Amino acid sequence: MRLALDEAGRAATGGDVPVGALVLAADGTTVLSTGHNEREATGDPTAHAEVLAIRRAAAALGEWRLTGCTLVVTLEPCTMCAGALVQSRVDRVVYGARDEKAGATGSLWDVVRDRRLNHRPEVIEGVLADECARLLTGFFRAR
Ligand SMILES: [Zn+2]
Repeated sequence: MRLALDEAGRAATGGDVPVGALVLAADGTTVLSTGHNEREATGDPTAHAEVLAIRRAAAALGEWRLTGCTLVVTLEPCTMCAGALVQSRVDRVVYGARDEKAGATGSLWDVVRDRRLNHRPEVIEGVLADECARLLTGFFRAR
C-alpha cells in the first residue's frame, strides 16, 4: 500500500485525483505493474489507476487472466474498475479508503462479491485508510 500511495502522489502532479494502484503476482511479493489516475493527463475517461495497472500486469504476464494476483489500490474501486477486476480474474483486491459516493467494492455497490457473477475476488479494505483518505481530502481542499 505504501507503493500505491507513492503512485497516487504521481497522479496529483499531473492534476489528476491522487489514486494509485499496483498488481502483485501470484507469489504475493513481485510487483507486476503500477498505475495512477491519468484521466486529466491523457484525456482518457477510462484511465483509472486500477485499469492501467490491470492492463500493464496482463501485458507483463502475456495473458489476460490475472489468476492468483492481488490488486492493491488506495481508494475503493468504482463500478468500471470493479468490473475490470472481475473480468481480469484477480484473486484479491486490497484497498485503502472507502468511497461512500461511488464505491463498487462494498460501499454503494458490491460488484466484486455479487453472487450472480462467476468470479468473486476476496476483498480486504481499510489498509492505511486514513493516509489514503488524507491524500484525497488534501488534494480537493487545494483546488
Ligand atoms: Zn475506477
